[in-house]
This record gives sequence, C-alpha cells and structure tokens, in this order.
Amino acid sequence: VHDNGANGYMFYSPEMNERAKEHLWFESELRRALVGNHLQLHYQPKVSLRSGRIVGAEALLRWKHPDRGMVSPGIFIPVAEETGLILELGTWVLDEACRQIRQWQDAGVDVPPVAVNLSSRQFDRHLPDRIQEVLERHGIAADRIKLEITETLLVRGPDTVIPIMNELAARGLALALDDFGTGYSSLAYLKKFPISTLKIDRAFVIGLPQEENDCAIARAIVTMGQQLRQEIVAEGVETPEQMAFLRDLGCDQLQGYLFSPPVVAGDFERMVRDGKRL
Ligand code: C2E
Ligand code: CA
Ligand code: CA
Ligand code: CA
Repeated sequence: VHDNGANGYMFYSPEMNERAKEHLWFESELRRALVGNHLQLHYQPKVSLRSGRIVGAEALLRWKHPDRGMVSPGIFIPVAEETGLILELGTWVLDEACRQIRQWQDAGVDVPPVAVNLSSRQFDRHLPDRIQEVLERHGIAADRIKLEITETLLVRGPDTVIPIMNELAARGLALALDDFGTGYSSLAYLKKFPISTLKIDRAFVIGLPQEENDCAIARAIVTMGQQLRQEIVAEGVETPEQMAFLRDLGCDQLQGYLFSPPVVAGDFERMVRDGKRL
C-alpha cells in the first residue's frame, strides 16, 4: 500500500504487490518452520590471536525450507524484523542455544561462551527477565552466553537503552557491538554504553592489508577499543594476511572461514574436544 501524495489515493503498484506477497509468504513459512523444526543453529568458533585456541562461538540461525532449500538469514531476518516475527525467532534462538549449552555441559564438554544475535526489536525493558527465565529453565550461568547487538540499537538514544544494558550487565550478561564501523558511533558516544566487545565488520576486513582506508579503519577501531578496555573481534577473516595484519594491530580474536565456517553443533563440539588451534 502506497500513498501517492498528490491526491491521497492509495494504490498497489505491481512491484509492491510482489513485495507484499513475498512478505506474507515468508511470514507464514517462517511460522511453519518454527513449529515444524526446520530451524537450526550453526556455531562459528572465535579464536584467540594470542593462544590460537577457541575462546568463543557465535550461534547463527539456519532455515532449511522443505522446497526452497537453505534460505540465508541475510534474507529472512530483515523480513522477520519487519513483520515482528523476529521476537518469536529470537526467543527460539536463545532457548535453542541454552538447550545446546546445557547438553554440552551434561556431556562434560568444556565449551566457551556462545554469542547470540539480538535484533533491536527484542531490546525492551523485559529483555533481562526474559533471558534470565531461559537461563534458569536450562540451568546455565549467565556468563555462558553473550549478546551481540548492532549500532542501530544505539540510535534509539542512551536514555532508553543504557538502563536495559546496565540491567543485563548487572546480571552477568556481556554485550558485544556487532558490525562495528558501519554505523555512526563515535568514541565519545560509545563510552557511554556498557559494552565489553567490539566486532569489526567484515566489510573492513576484506580489504586488509591492501586497502589503505580499511587498514586505517581497522587500526582506529582497535585503538578505540583498547582505550575503552574492550575486547576486539574481527569477523570474516579469510586469509593468513588478514590474520597477520590484525594480530599486529593487537586485535584479540578472529572469526572467519580461515579458521572455520559456521558448523553444526556436533562439528563444533568435535573442534573443542580435539583442541583445534589456529
Ligand atoms: P552477522 O551477525 O554479522 O554474522 C556474521 C556473518 O558472516 C554470518 O552470515 C557468517 O556466516 C558470515 N561469515 C563468517 N565468517 C565469514 C567469512 O570468513 N567470510 C564470509 N564471506 N562470511 C563469513 P550468516 O550466517 O549468513 O548471517 C547473516 C546475518 O544474519 C548475521 O550477520 C546476522 O545479522 C543475521 N543473523 C543470523 N542469525 C541470527 C539470529 O539468530 N538472530 C538475529 N537477530 N540475526 C541473525
Ligand atoms: Ca553477529
Ligand atoms: Ca557481525
Ligand atoms: Ca557483518
């Protein structure tokens, strides 16, 4: 539906109709996926650049559609955010990650903390209670998970988000700022927020070490993070050259295909058990 402005009439253009149909399709199919067990979490290791060991993981949502096959989260997450279904998906993700962590604990596997992605829409004053309920239901400690948020959340303004962040932090839940560098956060702004980790977006890692601008941005982010005593994780690291550059900068951890793509829980468990190193 579109307001053409001039005379106030509403009309459907063919493209918008397609888009609306696509949205409806995604929404009903995603709902089916939620109840039909077609969703899965994959886990991508984060490795320490100092020790070479696995020190964390990121849980990434996967959707296998019965006819269409794998649908990329880059496609369905934005739709879920628009339709509001992200709230139910987000709840599923958190619950599934905690269930898996508990299973690893019961099996005696010493897994590092697992980060889950949070949509800005999940971020309201009830979030700390909702997360705590899930943790308690599965019987796991708050430091077993981390929360990845994006800069779009920060534009809502410090007064709204800081109290919620402080509440999460008070309950032992660490926050990582994802895709850092793609938004508008300045150093002065950033220090207001209780954020323990900065993740350098893949967009800046790609050009290392050839692109002058990407090198400058990566250097600035690492310097900034060090001053704020934040841990720095580089995402999307694919080459030994990128790794070497980031290590020299003083970046703490890397995540990327160079070490491992996101994998099913069993494969991640194997890497941890085998003590796979960089
Ligand atoms: P993100 O949070 O920035 O996640 C990192 C993305 O980079 C993942 O894509 C991961 O598979 C990919 N990646 C990791 N290493 C490399 C690499 O070396 N090279 C390349 N080319 N790519 C790499 P993925 O899994 O397709 O997820 C895309 C985005 O969808 C995520 O970006 C995140 O914003 C969103 N997403 C995924 N799962 C969830 C979720 O459970 N909840 C929410 N709210 N968003 C999610
Ligand atoms: Ca992320
Ligand atoms: Ca990211
Ligand atoms: Ca990214």
